[in-house]
Amino acid sequence: MQKVGIDAGGSLLKIAFQERGVMHYKKYPISELESAISWLKAAAPNIMAALTGGKAHILQERFFPSGTIIPEFQATCEGVRLFLLEEGRKTPDPYIIVNVGTGTSWHLVDGEKYERILGSGMGGGTFMGLGMLLTNESDFYRLSELAVTGQKENLDLRVKDIYESDAPPINGDLTAANFAKGLSVKHSPSDRMAAVTNMVAETIMLLTLQAAAIHKVKEIVFIGSSLIGNPSLTKTLETYMKMLGLQSTFLKNGEYCGAVGALLSI
Ligand code: ATP
Ligand code: MG
Repeated sequence: MQKVGIDAGGSLLKIAFQERGVMHYKKYPISELESAISWLKAAAPNIMAALTGGKAHILQERFFPSGTIIPEFQATCEGVRLFLLEEGRKTPDPYIIVNVGTGTSWHLVDGEKYERILGSGMGGGTFMGLGMLLTNESDFYRLSELAVTGQKENLDLRVKDIYESDAPPINGDLTAANFAKGLSVKHSPSDRMAAVTNMVAETIMLLTLQAAAIHKVKEIVFIGSSLIGNPSLTKTLETYMKMLGLQSTFLKNGEYCGAVGALLSI
C-alpha cells in the first residue's frame, strides 16, 4: 500500500487503496476520523495521500501535510468514469451524475469535460436527520429497514385524496403534498420513514428531470453512500427514472467515487 485516496465528506470518511493490484475500500463515520486515520498511518507510515471532500483541508493540516488536495467535483467525476469502465459499460455521453451524499449534487459530464450544474439540501442527511426526529432511531441501516415496510400514503396527501370521487386531471397517485396528512391518519415509524424516503426521492427526481431536459441528457448515473444498503430510496429513484424515460445506473461501489478519483489523480 503506497498510495491512498481519502474522501472526507459531511457524514462519512471513505478510503480507497490498492494492494497487490486489488482495490480495497473502507468507510467510517466522520466522527471516527481520528481512529480511522491512526489505523491507516500505523499500517503505512509513509503513504502518499490524495485528499478530497469538504474536510480534505482538515485532513491535510492534521495528518497529511504533504498530501495532495484534489477538488471534490474532479475526484467524483473521475471516479465515476473509472467505475463505468470497470463495469464494462460503454460510457454514455453526455450523462448526469447525481451524487446523493449528505446533500445532493448534480454534475454534467460530456467527454472529458464536467461541470457541477445543480445542488439540493435534500439528501442522505435529510434521510438521517428527519428519520431520527420521526422515529427515535439513529442507525442508517435501521432507518433504511423501516422505510422498506412503510406506507407513505398514511402521511402523504395524493392528488386522488383531494379529488376524492372526481376524476383527477393528472395521475391520482402523484403526491399533492408531502406529509400533509399530519395527524389525521394513524401512522407508524415505518410509514414516516417511507414518507421521508419518498420526499427525498421525489425532490431528486424533479430536479433531475429539469437538469436532463435543459442539458438534453437521457443517462443518469447515481452515486453516494445514501443509496448503499438503502433499497427503498434506490428502488424509488429507479422507478421514477423509468417513469420519466431516463436511463439510470446505480454504481456498485458508488460511495467510493471521490476516494478512487482522488487516488487516480496522484
Ligand atoms: P457530502 O458529499 O455531502 O459532503 P458525504 O461525502 O459524507 O457528504 P456520502 O458518504 O456519499 O456523503 O453519504 C452520506 C449519507 O450516507 C448519510 O447522510 C447517510 O444517509 C448515508 N449513510 C450510509 N451509511 C451510513 C452510516 N454507516 N452512517 C451514517 N450515514 C450513513
Ligand atoms: Mg461526498
